Amino acid sequence: SQNSPYVGRFAPSPTGVLHMGSLMAAVASYLDARKNGGQWLLRIEDLDPPREVPGAAQSILSTLERFGFEWDGAVLWQSQRELRYRAMLERLIEAGAAYQCTCTRKMIQSDGLLGIDGARYVGRCRERSMMETVKAAYRIKVSNDLLEVVDRVQGVVSQRLFDDLGDFVIRRADGLWAYQLAVVVDDADSGVTHIVRGADLLDSTPRQRYVQQVLNLYQPQYLHIPVITNSRGEKLSKQTLAPALLSSNEAAQLWQALYLLWQQPLIDMKAAPLFELWEWALESWDVAKIPQKRSVAVTIDRKNE
Ligand code: GLU
Ligand code: ZN
Repeated sequence: SQNSPYVGRFAPSPTGVLHMGSLMAAVASYLDARKNGGQWLLRIEDLDPPREVPGAAQSILSTLERFGFEWDGAVLWQSQRELRYRAMLERLIEAGAAYQCTCTRKMIQSDGLLGIDGARYVGRCRERSMMETVKAAYRIKVSNDLLEVVDRVQGVVSQRLFDDLGDFVIRRADGLWAYQLAVVVDDADSGVTHIVRGADLLDSTPRQRYVQQVLNLYQPQYLHIPVITNSRGEKLSKQTLAPALLSSNEAAQLWQALYLLWQQPLIDMKAAPLFELWEWALESWDVAKIPQKRSVAVTIDRKNE
C-alpha cells in the first residue's frame, strides 16, 4: 500500500553486459517500486573479481541510464563492503552459527550426497576449533526445520536446508565472500523491503531467509519473475551468449521486456517514444499478470526491433 515504506533494488553482477533477461529484472523491480511509491536502489555485485568482465559495470550503468532508469542515492559497490561482511561473519561465529571448513570439493563429492545445488555438505567440520593460520572456508550451520518463503508470484517455496543443501559456504577459502551472505547483509543495510529478481534465484531464497533469521535482520518480501530461455530451454545468460541489449531503439526493447513480463503492451506502442512507454508501464504495472512460472522460452527476433 502507499503508506507502508517500500525500498526496492536492482543488483546486477558485472560478469557481462545487460541482456533481455536482466532488463526484465530491472524493469520489474523498478516498476514495482515506483508503483508502490517506493525507492529503487542500485547495487553492483562485484564480489568475484575473477568472474568480472572489464568494463561491464560501467556498461551496465550507462545502459540503465540510456533506458531512462533513475535510481535513488549512490550506487552501492559490493567490493567496498568487506568490513560489513566481516562483522557479520564474526557475529555468526560468536553465536556458534558459523565454522571453518577445510574440506576439499573432492572430499565432499566422495561422500556421494546430493542436494539441490550439487554435492551436499553434512557438516564434517562443525566441531573443529577455529585456527587463524589455516586457509579455510566458512560455512553456516543450517537446521532441518521446514523453511517456507512466500513469493508474490511463484507461491510458497519450501526447503529443509540440511537435507536439501547442507551447511553452505558464506566465505570461500580464497577469501571471497559468498553471494548468499553478501546479498542479505547489503539488502538489510540498505533497508530493502521488497526484492524483485529472476526466478533462477528462487532456490537461493530459503538460504537467504535463513541467514536473515540467524542474524535477526529484516525479512523482505520476494517476487521472482520467470527467466527467459532459448528454444533449447537454456537460461539466457552470458554463458549461453545471450545477445546484449542494443544501444539504439531502447523503446522497442523496453516494449519487449514488458511483453515478456505479460504486461500486455499494445502492438502500436512499439513505436512510442521511451517516456510514453514508461508512463504507460507505470500506470499499467500489474503483478497479477506475471506468469507463475520459473522460465519462459522465447526467440529474440532482432528484425522486429
Ligand atoms: N547479482 C545477481 C545476479 O546478477 C542478482 C542478485 C539478486 O538480485 O539478489 O544474478
Ligand atoms: Zn569441512
